[in-house]
Amino acid sequence: MVEKRIAVITGAASGIGRATALELGRAGYTLALCDLDAAALEVSAAEAGAELTRILDVSRADQLAELAEACRTCFGRVDVLVNNAGILRLGSWADLSEADWRKTFEVNLLGISLATRAFLPLLTASRGHVVNLGSGASLLPFPRYSAYGPVKVGVLWLSEYLRAELAPLGIRVSCVCPLLVRTKMGAAGQADVTRQPDWLFHSPEQIARLIRRSIGSRRFLVYGSFILRVLHLAYRFVPGIMRAALAATTRRQARSRAARAGRAG
Ligand code: NAD
Repeated sequence: MVEKRIAVITGAASGIGRATALELGRAGYTLALCDLDAAALEVSAAEAGAELTRILDVSRADQLAELAEACRTCFGRVDVLVNNAGILRLGSWADLSEADWRKTFEVNLLGISLATRAFLPLLTASRGHVVNLGSGASLLPFPRYSAYGPVKVGVLWLSEYLRAELAPLGIRVSCVCPLLVRTKMGAAGQADVTRQPDWLFHSPEQIARLIRRSIGSRRFLVYGSFILRVLHLAYRFVPGIMRAALAATTRRQARSRAARAGRAG
């Protein structure tokens, strides 16, 4: 008899999390899904056939512990944890508030640490896999990602530490880094950062397939797009070009914001 594999996905109510729930559901996983958005979570859980759902905040250790306990009681195991929940606060460094910084850190980075800790005993028992959602901003400095970018760099580095520390327990860790994805968050990025060309965008379903393929593999850093791989190489070997592009885009955006403010005033 083949034992069913259990996957927990955070931020599963929309975007990449929802697409990953559908993808893993089709691949035969039993799903435990969580999100802050109760109504959207109900829809995505019904679509994906999830067996367990929780409305929770990934920055709350007590709520994650309750979900882990529910998984232990219902399934007795967890094979995959997809740390997907995330938020984006866009702005230049000068514009972002202390509250923006704290929230970005608490959800996008602390949330991964807390969720991994909550599920560690179950993941250890099944020699499972942790998949963390990094970003293109984990690898490159994009204009106006001045809080999100540093926090996503932290996600990549946390993934490195987890990989090293959890390997002796038989747990694998991957960090999937999408560039631009058509989701609520991706749409906000498109409207507010620059007018990105259509071909740069991926669908959440494409990223969900990458996440599924990374499970059980030894791949650590998973690029969400070929262009990101090329840009990352360029940044490592000729950082001056990327820095000049960042500075030029930042100046252009500042000028167009000033012009918009002038027209509005
Ligand atoms: P999305 O906004 O569509 O979905 C994020 C989900 O996380 C939402 O359902 C939201 O309710 C949930 N969430 C937010 N805060 C939460 C909290 N405190 N606790 C529990 N759930 C919470 O965004 P998405 O584009 O699908 O993003 C998913 C992941 O992919 C994020 O980690 C994001 O940083 C990363 N990512 C996205 C893009 C992109 O272009 N969309 C690019 C790179 C990386």
